[in-house]
Amino acid sequence: MTYAFPLPDNESQRLLALEDYDILDTLPEQAYDDIARLAAFVCGVDKAMVAFVDTERKWHKARHNIAPEEVPRGFAICSQTIMGSEPFIVTDTLEDPRVKDIGMVNNPPYVRFYAGVPLIDDAGLALGTLCAVDTQPRTMTQEQTEALTALGNQIMQLLRLRKSLKILEMREQQLCESKQRLDNANDELRRMTLTDELTGLNNRRAFNTALDHETRQAGNRETPLSLLVIDIDHFKTLNDNRGHTFGDQVLTQVAERLMQRARNQDFCARYGGEEFVILLPGTPLEGALKLAEACRQNIEDNQFDGETLTISIGIAEYAGQPAEAFFDCADNALLSAKQQGRNCIVTAPSRTFRQTDKEPSAELIKSPQPGE
Ligand code: GH3
Ligand code: MG
Ligand code: MG
Repeated sequence: MTYAFPLPDNESQRLLALEDYDILDTLPEQAYDDIARLAAFVCGVDKAMVAFVDTERKWHKARHNIAPEEVPRGFAICSQTIMGSEPFIVTDTLEDPRVKDIGMVNNPPYVRFYAGVPLIDDAGLALGTLCAVDTQPRTMTQEQTEALTALGNQIMQLLRLRKSLKILEMREQQLCESKQRLDNANDELRRMTLTDELTGLNNRRAFNTALDHETRQAGNRETPLSLLVIDIDHFKTLNDNRGHTFGDQVLTQVAERLMQRARNQDFCARYGGEEFVILLPGTPLEGALKLAEACRQNIEDNQFDGETLTISIGIAEYAGQPAEAFFDCADNALLSAKQQGRNCIVTAPSRTFRQTDKEPSAELIKSPQPGE
């Protein structure tokens, strides 16, 4: 038979505190098992348990020679134990009116002897019990009661540690998440500082860093390195005729076309305005010239919403000079291409290339194009 178990005055806080320890329905742990075994030994019985009293059940964190993982709260003498703050000792349950009608006494396991201490947290809330039981009446000495109480204190110590660990883990998790957010924000910031907003290409800052790096590498390894500086011809006129927004779209399309022509190892950037650069590691002048011609031809052959477009290109091959001087070589070659009528490629030292047939490196046609 079950009995209407008593409820502590602080029952709701007690349940909240219990929930806070997050101990209910956890797996067995050696430390709690050891304490249950010691409790049985100390009390001279063979059954003991570490129990937590939930809303309607008594759940066992540790069981020493006790079968069920939980019992109804109304079935358990521990429901009485948590009503007080002192050890609850019953030498013969059948003789004690406080417990003689409780289920555990009149049903298996037919408890005749019960010694329990409440597990009380720092706020004075009784979470459960450490108890030892027997099917024979028994007595407890003062020393045994004190030892059982000390073991109960050890359980509370384990619970405090558990809670501290939980808080630490939570903080560590929060720290991890904050760090991840910060890393993401930094990555995004880095990406933004190195990317041209309009075209999505690398920007001038990123290019300058790459130029420094690649010139150093080429110098150290004695590998070739070439640079293309590309400028859209008469872009101002296009802007004036079709508007700035259209001009922006054209810039984006030109960027895409240059990117498509560049190889994986090449570094493509928008240097500013309608100027682009392509840095070609491991590539001597002749290779750079082929790529430049492919770019020039691609722009010339395609329409941009009915508009035709051309580009001029200056090329330099790295010769051990400082990075800025290397850039100036290619930039001066570009200037020379503009001076020679645009839609052409000039290399440094100066040679001019203009399309006459479909061969990519047709050389040195300096005469101006019709209309220039
Ligand atoms: P050239 O053949 O000598 O290079 O002539 P150009 O008209 O291309 O060169 P210029 O330096 O005279 O003009 C460049 C134009 O590019 C002027 C400027 O308004 C335009 N421009 C620069 N940045 C942008 C941009 O982000 N969007 C648009 N739509 N136009 C831009
Ligand atoms: Mg231009
Ligand atoms: Mg320009």
